[in-house]
Amino acid sequence: MSRYWSSLVHRLTPYVPGEQPKLARLVKLNTNENPYPPSPRVVEAISEELRNGGELLRLYPDPAADRLKEAVAARFADFAITAQQVFVGNGSDEVLAHVFMALLKHELPILFPDITYSFYPVYCGLHDVAYATVPLDEDFAIRIDDYVAPNGGIIFPNPNAPTGCLLPLPAIASLLARHRQSVVVVDEAYVDFGGESAMALVSEHPNLLVVRTLSKAHSLAGLRVGYAVGQCALIEALDRVKNSFNSYPLDRLAIAGAVAAISDQAYLEATRQAVMRSREALCSDLRGLGFEVLPSAANFVFVRHRLHDAGELAAALRQRGVIVRHFKLPRIDQHLRITIGTDVQGELLVEALREIL
Ligand code: PMP
Repeated sequence: MSRYWSSLVHRLTPYVPGEQPKLARLVKLNTNENPYPPSPRVVEAISEELRNGGELLRLYPDPAADRLKEAVAARFADFAITAQQVFVGNGSDEVLAHVFMALLKHELPILFPDITYSFYPVYCGLHDVAYATVPLDEDFAIRIDDYVAPNGGIIFPNPNAPTGCLLPLPAIASLLARHRQSVVVVDEAYVDFGGESAMALVSEHPNLLVVRTLSKAHSLAGLRVGYAVGQCALIEALDRVKNSFNSYPLDRLAIAGAVAAISDQAYLEATRQAVMRSREALCSDLRGLGFEVLPSAANFVFVRHRLHDAGELAAALRQRGVIVRHFKLPRIDQHLRITIGTDVQGELLVEALREIL
């Protein structure tokens, strides 16, 4: 048995993703998927890729996924992003895994918030990266002044998960300026639902990497596509790891579908507006039911009820066919994270809560 196996693998605490129930009738508000289907152009593009009995599937996909990188660059043309500044992967989870392997492995601990995406400590365990967590303030905001240099890198989602809290762009710019020796990774999985993208800062900051996914705003969690944008030195480091590991991260269908999704900005705009409208309606209903609702810039809300135990509420909702996420973690064990669904799903949730409370 190798030393790696015995010393590291046994110490891992793997990430446990949210439940993916088999029953279609459930109101599924637990893993922040988009309630709307992807752009119709996605289905057209994938069908086109499958033409003539799928003959193209005989052939390997483009290992560089250049079409996709160009589509990403075109989307962010206002910030002068080029295709050479884009790295793509099989979901942003895989992009993040490369980030931990290529950019954050240092002698010094990397820093992230104490309440954040629970995959980060898992990656640290997997890749033997030391880390330290930095407490959020009493309002669950990220306190940039508490991130000390030197460090092995900084990573946080913006908006943060599972809180939905947003760090304004000037705060990120000042963090980047204070940590020029570190890579700062901004995980923008939810930014399209009301956040301000750090993409605008890429050209000025060689230490910034912005990570994005098509799983949320583009309704493509099932296709597994994510990407990172940064200056060329960071992208080259990610590519070196990728090419030592799997030269074909994205299959033909994923590339075709992702290009179509990114290129349909009008559809993205319509669905994100719909989700944001539903979020405002749901927030006001939940407040009316006595919940404290944290202001959210994401496609979920983070709530607590002063009079009811969060675990019991989640279980009672489950019995009524509504699934929400309850994290049994310190400080947030009395909160629920509720994904924004359609207005009808929101009404079903509120009806179920009225029965329970
Ligand atoms: N970052 C954050 C903050 C997330 O919540 C998620 C989704 N759970 C991801 C990244 C990964 O998303 P995906 O792998 O579907 O792109």
